[in-house]
Amino acid sequence: MFDARLCRPIRNPVLYYRLLPHGMKPNIADLSLKELSGFLTEHNHPIYRAKQIWQWLFQKRATTFVEMSNLSRDLREALGDDFLIGRLQILRRAESRDGTVKFLFGLADGESIESVLIPEATRLTLCISTQAGCAFGCAFCATAVLGLKRNLTSSEIVNQVLEVSRSLQNGRRITHIVLMGMGEPLANYEQTLRALEIITDSQWGIGISPRRVTLSTVGLVPQIEKLMAETKINLAISLHAPDNRLRGQLMPVNRKYSLAQVIDCCHSLPIPRRKRITFEYVLLRGVNDSEQHARELAKLLRGIPSKVNVIPFNPHPGSEFLRPSNESIARFQNVLHDAGVQINVRRPRGDDIQAACGQLQGQEAGPQRHGNRRAEASIS
Ligand code: SAH
Repeated sequence: MFDARLCRPIRNPVLYYRLLPHGMKPNIADLSLKELSGFLTEHNHPIYRAKQIWQWLFQKRATTFVEMSNLSRDLREALGDDFLIGRLQILRRAESRDGTVKFLFGLADGESIESVLIPEATRLTLCISTQAGCAFGCAFCATAVLGLKRNLTSSEIVNQVLEVSRSLQNGRRITHIVLMGMGEPLANYEQTLRALEIITDSQWGIGISPRRVTLSTVGLVPQIEKLMAETKINLAISLHAPDNRLRGQLMPVNRKYSLAQVIDCCHSLPIPRRKRITFEYVLLRGVNDSEQHARELAKLLRGIPSKVNVIPFNPHPGSEFLRPSNESIARFQNVLHDAGVQINVRRPRGDDIQAACGQLQGQEAGPQRHGNRRAEASIS
């Protein structure tokens, strides 16, 4: 039996300021338009001010109400009396030999999360987290070891973009966002969607085009359908095995949404012309890396506008899996290529600072083992 908690956080989603000591003010960036409008009306200010406030927060990246110079002093004071502008604390910043930068951020309640900045020739990608920890217990993933701590609020998701932007020099700007950090974005659907709205809106938000945003999921079918109906962002699905039994061994979520259900869902999604679903496939030595696996994968994806991102396993302390040899990675790649599958082998970025895919743990010390067992205990 599948414990429904796997689709939702194990703990109830709690806005983090409710966890703060009595008297702490709420973070203004977590208010919806309705809530902010309510506040403005109550204080006799027109509601169009809401969008101006958002422009200050998300476009001009204001950190105080005082600097919001097109608002009256009255309003600035009222805002300051009732709200704070939440920030993330940079606990650690590590730069890899290849230019990848990993940020460890502290949250107001003491939890921590990681984001990874990946510079490439023509783009600057930021990989962000949507949960502290993760409940899904994928066998090969370092974040899984933590178990789920909690969902992030939309402002905590957005603040990763704002804090990293602030740290950039020489006019460099983030061009792409991938929701591939810690956690399962579709298990924190509401806050993730709100954050995506802020990240992609060009009138008052950060203004990164949805075409440049990609969300990666373990394959929560109903939420995938909802996401594709409600947004224009790109979808990536973690597949990792071409058959149901093996996928179930690697990804406990497969017992809730089987491989067949995920594939059926992909066939029926309204994918616009020229768009493709990305399938992620972590390559594990002796587990899912044979030429037969590659042939089965090509067959499975037939008829779906797709591309495959092969991620050779990135080792992390305590993991039992191994990365395949370069020859066997190349053989896997060739089979897919010959079968007409668009394939890209991801070279590890930032592996010397534990910033590569699946290495994020959101803590400075070594791994804690208890969380994984909790995640697995909720499935039977
Ligand atoms: N929960 C989402 C978002 C995480 S994205 C998801 O699972 O899709 C991170 C990607 O890296 C996923 O495809 C994940 O399976 C993969 N990954 C996890 N651990 C890894 C590791 N050690 N080496 C390589 N890829 C890994």
